Amino acid sequence: MILRFAAGTPEQGVQAVRERLEREGLRVLRSPEEARPILAVAGKMPAKLAEELRARPEIAEMIAPMGELLLVARAMREAPAARSAVVDVGGVRVGGDEVVVIAGPCSVEGRDAVLEVARSVAECGAHVLRGGAFKPRTSPYAFQGFGVEGLRQLKDAGEAVGLPVVSEIMDASDLGSFLEHGIDCLQIGARNMQNFTLLKAVARANRPVLLKRGLAATAEEWLYAAEYLFEGGCEQVILCERGIRTFEKATRNTLDLTVLPLLREWSHVPVIVDPAHAAGIARIIPPLARASIAAGADGVAVEVHLNPAEARSDGPQALLPQELAGIVSDARIQAAATGRSLHRSFR
Ligand code: PEP
Ligand code: MN
Repeated sequence: MILRFAAGTPEQGVQAVRERLEREGLRVLRSPEEARPILAVAGKMPAKLAEELRARPEIAEMIAPMGELLLVARAMREAPAARSAVVDVGGVRVGGDEVVVIAGPCSVEGRDAVLEVARSVAECGAHVLRGGAFKPRTSPYAFQGFGVEGLRQLKDAGEAVGLPVVSEIMDASDLGSFLEHGIDCLQIGARNMQNFTLLKAVARANRPVLLKRGLAATAEEWLYAAEYLFEGGCEQVILCERGIRTFEKATRNTLDLTVLPLLREWSHVPVIVDPAHAAGIARIIPPLARASIAAGADGVAVEVHLNPAEARSDGPQALLPQELAGIVSDARIQAAATGRSLHRSFR
């Protein structure tokens, strides 16, 4: 149950309710927003207690959550109905009234290569630089990424062009390296969306997390994965739709835009779309990116390579810099069409 207090309720009033619930052995969670106190109660609340609370004047609303989705629930925040809460990724605001573009190579392919692509990404007006150093590859013989060295190269490239960086973490034992190298946002990939041990470990780092949707995860399962992060202490989560497995073989995956308005209703967590891993085909990415923002996505994430034919991973879906420039200008148009604006970069 989610308990929303009347505006101006003094802190003692909130604490009294909290203690009452805890006396019943219930676990109580609190919204980080200070403007209005909001509590969430995990587990089943006895009917008598619910009745007692409903009679308290300081409790303005009692909202039944969807299952046990508490901290991710829209009712836990005050964001306006059509907007998500805002997550700060190294100075770039994701969510709210602005739309972001995340771009970069699928894999970090070396110091010079990542720097060169980072320069194009920055010049095209994207806001966050992506690049994988630990790669989840289907085949053990495929390029696995440069590991810690790749993190260093990505961060250096990001700093050189003034962009925060996001990179995928596959194993909790690498967390120290991600933090040490100042990776601004930790990506949890589709294959690890329900790796609960990893989710719990990453949550403890309290860094922004980009949580990609599992290959065959329902929207609800995906939100439960986000709930793990929040429950573990990380409130800076961005969801990323990247296509799901269906019977369609013409594309790598099927982009599911139907979840966007639903997630907006259910949750305050910002949602971006990665049309690259959904499509797997570079030339069909631009219309999917436009549709994503038109349907309310808080941004898009795409892959860029200066020579896609030579890419060490995901070449067929890599955009050239001039194509990325088109994605950024389309994002500006679609953001305006939905009453928002493209994130204002500092450069
Ligand atoms: C990636 O972003 O490079 C990646 C591996 O994505 P996903 O986890 O969505 O497959
Ligand atoms: Mn990729």
